[in-house]
Amino acid sequence: MLPFLSQNGTIHQELETDCDRCGGAGQSDKWYFTGKVCFKCGGDGRMLTKRKEYTSEHEEKLRKQREKRAEKKRLAATEENQDKLIKS
Ligand SMILES: [Zn+2]
Repeated sequence: MLPFLSQNGTIHQELETDCDRCGGAGQSDKWYFTGKVCFKCGGDGRMLTKRKEYTSEHEEKLRKQREKRAEKKRLAATEENQDKLIKS
């Protein structure tokens, strides 16, 4: 598949790599009870991974979103702790 550009400038790409389950072997004696063949790649040892490459602006936006989420989580945890303190 050819890389394509989404609206926010992110490059989406599909790459073929060695299967991350069997490491490219396609099968293993470990899985003899299920027929030895790796169920992830079906025995060919290759798999497709999706890769995204962000523009620096979009990367920055994502970073801010992550920070916001982390802050929200932190606040929620603090409130929960206060709740426990009040109730106990
Ligand atoms: Zn595999």
